[in-house]
Amino acid sequence: MNLGIAGRTALVCGASKGLGRACAVALADEGVNVVLVARGAAALETTAEHIRRRAPAVEVVTVAADITSETGRDAALKACPAPDLLITNCGGPPTGDFRTWTRADWHAALDANMLAPIALMKATIDGMLARRFGRIVNITSSAVKAPVGGLGLSNGARAGLTGFVAGLARETVGRNVTINNLLPGPFDTDRVRATNAAIAAAAGRSVEDLLRQRLAGSPAGRFGEPAELGAACAFLCSAAAGFITGQNLLIDGGAYPGVF
Ligand code: NAP
Repeated sequence: MNLGIAGRTALVCGASKGLGRACAVALADEGVNVVLVARGAAALETTAEHIRRRAPAVEVVTVAADITSETGRDAALKACPAPDLLITNCGGPPTGDFRTWTRADWHAALDANMLAPIALMKATIDGMLARRFGRIVNITSSAVKAPVGGLGLSNGARAGLTGFVAGLARETVGRNVTINNLLPGPFDTDRVRATNAAIAAAAGRSVEDLLRQRLAGSPAGRFGEPAELGAACAFLCSAAAGFITGQNLLIDGGAYPGVF
């Protein structure tokens, strides 16, 4: 299927590793020029080199910046002032007991997982509307549909983003600018591997034992491959997906047990 986006430009946040990286790779495979943002320059350059080798015809630009800060966003937008495609993504907040969270903890979670994506949309959407083409994909979490205990900062901040997007998406689709959210379940990324290793070590268990337990309730019986989420992102960014907006697409191997 020709996705009809070759030659477009994407601003991809949280792009050096994991799910953001997979989105950048999938878009570059479709001939999309990519501007990659992440804080750590070394991993960012490794990913950029990987994409340049894989898709030599596309332009790959890197911006080492913290997308949750205003200066970081300014740097990203300076490198990519008029993206056709915007992929918002960054790390998730820490787990914990809400009794211990301060106002500053809440602000950090809201900055990262709600206000940064909204600020990026605010900076780019009018250009998309004027050009009558735009695709915005926010990477959120399956926790939006099935909140996870101990992840209250994430549950709360991402729910705020989801509600906001639900309204905005209906205001922009008439000019061919769609906004959708991808809701990952468990994916095999650096972050998940590191978290599992830490949990197993703290509990004095082997990682294999912990993974067996985590996957016991999974209909797919496995973690998702980041490329599977990247492919869904590329489709939502396609010319063909102009009638899909305001949606929350779970990619979780069937883990969420509801009908809708
Ligand atoms: P990951 O493997 O740790 O990758 C995160 C990427 O985002 C890295 O490139 C990281 O690079 C970048 N990043 C983090 N904070 C950033 C910031 N402030 N500014 C710019 N870039 C930043 O994580 P992942 O597993 O792909 O997860 C991505 C998102 O999906 C997270 O919000 C996570 O909570 C959510 N999610 C993941 C899963 C899963 O199973 N993987 C499930 C549900 C939800 P630097 O650290 O160098 O900046």
